[in-house]
Amino acid sequence: MMSIAKEGDTRQIVCFECGLTQATYLVRNVSFNEQTGVVKNLLVAVCNNCQQVVSMPKQSVVQVKAEYQKTRLGSRPKS
Ligand SMILES: [Zn+2]
Repeated sequence: MMSIAKEGDTRQIVCFECGLTQATYLVRNVSFNEQTGVVKNLLVAVCNNCQQVVSMPKQSVVQVKAEYQKTRLGSRPKS
């Protein structure tokens, strides 16, 4: 079963900092590596307490992977 998260949804999560708490799905620009780039308008779960990104719905993971592949293909030729 796959549930699609949408902006503004809240769910209970376990935050590294805060433990069991609530998070809200928000659209953010997220950097997925130190230097390779940022995925814009990505839906992620943000801890209501400390504002850290605590999880990423499956649909966002797919988006990050696609962006990452693009960056790799752009920066080095396929061998
Ligand atoms: Zn937190």
